[in-house]
Amino acid sequence: TFKDRALITYSPHMLIEGILIACHAIRSYRAYIYVRGEYALEAEIIGTAICEARDAGLLRSPDGTEIAVTVHRGAGAYICGEETALLSSIEGNRGYPRIRPPFPAISGVWKSPTIIQNVETLCNLPHIFKMGGAEYAKIGPTKSPGPKIYCMSGHLNKPGLYERPMDVTIGELIEAAGGILDGLAPKAVFPGGSSSPVFRMDRPYIGLDGAEHRDSMNLRMDFESVRAAGSMLGSAGVIVMHEKTCMVEAAHNLARFYHHESCGQCTPCREGTGWVEKILFRMLAGDGRPGDVTLLLDILEKMSGTTICLLADSCAMPIASMVVKFREEFERRCAGTGVAAQAAAG
Ligand code: SF4
Repeated sequence: TFKDRALITYSPHMLIEGILIACHAIRSYRAYIYVRGEYALEAEIIGTAICEARDAGLLRSPDGTEIAVTVHRGAGAYICGEETALLSSIEGNRGYPRIRPPFPAISGVWKSPTIIQNVETLCNLPHIFKMGGAEYAKIGPTKSPGPKIYCMSGHLNKPGLYERPMDVTIGELIEAAGGILDGLAPKAVFPGGSSSPVFRMDRPYIGLDGAEHRDSMNLRMDFESVRAAGSMLGSAGVIVMHEKTCMVEAAHNLARFYHHESCGQCTPCREGTGWVEKILFRMLAGDGRPGDVTLLLDILEKMSGTTICLLADSCAMPIASMVVKFREEFERRCAGTGVAAQAAAG
């Protein structure tokens, strides 16, 4: 996510320091920094910083052994952000996720025990050491201590990175990001990137249990609160959509992305993402059929929890939540009264 890009660009040595602390903690002398293919400049920046640290004699463990830190560049596949696909890619193989167990901590890169951490996590380590764990834990709520960088994107006046303690609310983050474009009202918020279930902010909705629910702008954006509200914080890539957003179009956009990025190993993912994209496309084209909404939910349910990695779930969870929470928009597209059908009718 773009918070990691900014951390590498502006503080590459903070990442290297975090890596050295992690290496010391697990007695490792080998580290890889996997940089996605699109981030050529960032790979250069971190590569230069590694040379500087090595020249300064800093890439050493306390026993004096040199620690080898290698930058490995991906080739643009989204799935290589999945930890086992990333390991395959480092080994020079196609970026296919692997079945677990064995887990990477037991058998990872080159079949060696491996820990895989996000850039932001490692960048926290020098600060925890400097402040002390107890002091660091005083920042934010007890169960989600420490600051978090929220990547605010979507229909906002000032999209960007906002570092806050995790007791911040959705509303406060939107306000920090300059509010919604054109003074419009918020309609939907994905708290943890495109793979997290959506929150509906404009009005209550009828859930699968038949009861009325309401998602709140006052929801705290810590791991526990977001999970309790039925979504996940993930790496805090918060996507905000305003009241004029078509949720069918947004869902189709997501499905097209995940279909394109599926590695194709598992049938429910390879076929399911394609079917979901096709059904949403025909809804958009004004050709939605009665029963399409039920069919969509059925396919999405069968994609969940049946595959090697979580990409299928990452497609199914947000789209199913969009269909459930904004059901009337999807139903309208299947009743011959959608925008395209109306346009066709003149
Ligand atoms: Fe590949 Fe999708 Fe299976 Fe993951 S879930 S291994 S991306 S086919």
